[in-house]
Amino acid sequence: MGESLNTIIQKKKIVVLGATGSIGSQCLEIVETYPERFEVVGLAAKSGGPAFEQIVERFRPTRVALYDESAANALSKKFSSLTVEAGAAGLKAVAGIEADVVVVGIMGFAALAPTLEAVRQGKTVALANKESIITAGGLLKKAIADSGCVCIPVDSEHNALYQLLLGQDREAVGSLVITASGGPFFAQKDRDLHTVTPEEAIRHPNWSMGPKISVDSATLMNKGLEFIEAHILFDFPADKIEIWIHPQSIVHGALWFKDNSCIAQLNRPNMKCSIGYAMSYPERLDNVIPKLSFKEMSRLEFFEPDEARFPALRLAKEALRAGPSHLVALNALNEIAVEAFLDKRIPFTAIPQLVEAGLARHSSSVIENIEQVFALDEEARCVGREVSSRFSL
Ligand code: NAD
Ligand code: MG
Repeated sequence: MGESLNTIIQKKKIVVLGATGSIGSQCLEIVETYPERFEVVGLAAKSGGPAFEQIVERFRPTRVALYDESAANALSKKFSSLTVEAGAAGLKAVAGIEADVVVVGIMGFAALAPTLEAVRQGKTVALANKESIITAGGLLKKAIADSGCVCIPVDSEHNALYQLLLGQDREAVGSLVITASGGPFFAQKDRDLHTVTPEEAIRHPNWSMGPKISVDSATLMNKGLEFIEAHILFDFPADKIEIWIHPQSIVHGALWFKDNSCIAQLNRPNMKCSIGYAMSYPERLDNVIPKLSFKEMSRLEFFEPDEARFPALRLAKEALRAGPSHLVALNALNEIAVEAFLDKRIPFTAIPQLVEAGLARHSSSVIENIEQVFALDEEARCVGREVSSRFSL
């Protein structure tokens, strides 16, 4: 009708929480690649420094937040016209500013409060953070239903399942499949896991991610958390969710229909595909990643996970069976254990041992509100810190 594409497409206003991280920086690269589609209006991260300042200069947002108060003060001195917020309240404020899409790329439990705020404000939420779903899935889903917001998982397997389930008759779907690369030690069958260093654990074969999720991928806790994430997000019983180790990371998720027909979602291992899908939903971006050739798919392998070698997977499944408060404890204990491993205070094999010892001390409780989630998280962290001394190097 004579109008140019630019006038038809409305630019989406984007807030990026966790802007300096792996997810956040890939999201910002997408904004730069498609300037006619997106503009950044808000940014948040844990601490400032040159990396964050460069992002502010590149994208000129109207409001930013840094969790670290002194970094926020330093930033506001440097950028006098910028509104800089600080602390947990600052994160929440930026999550709620006028915007179309809030991308949640904050690592760990710290993402929960800003995610809830974005949901309550009815934004489209592109949710990469999984810890918020694990720890407060029920409350988050209720808030999503109450506000009517669109929440699209960015985690590649769940993004795949989201795409696959769109428009399906749920009655016709028998089970869900998520895949796992297997992490750096899957192929090293004889590797003594006790001597694994943080440097080795974060060297992921297929993905370049932040340190915490890289360690989770190496222990397979990441797949345990994703198993729970799939159960919560898509309301499928645990015995209808399959996990397959797929070292090529090309098939991300699949659905089995009850007639035993199967459909799957495939793309190169590149998170920009899932991030771009969530940012542009319900439209799709042109060529957001290079196209996969069927030639490259001549060898797609699938193996059963080894829960004896990687007990984190079993612990996650047990916690899911035990109930929501166990999930808060599982997540907090794992965050404490991974931090201790990255600080070289405990060995790699102690990560699941610490989580198991901490969970043994947890007694189930009912979760009715977010304050209870914060209290349970704090309690489990205290137990984790206490127990961690038992495993010191
Ligand atoms: P990362 O460590 O690279 O980045 C984390 C970001 O969060 C940083 O910008 C950091 O400043 C910010 N952050 C951390 N603590 C904060 C706090 N208290 N307040 C404010 N900001 C804080 O992590 P990542 O790999 O980008 O992962 C982010 C989330 O996305 C995680 O939950 C992870 O499980 C999930 N995820 C990541 C990938 C991936 O490919 N990286 C894939 C799937 C899911
Ligand atoms: Mg994933």
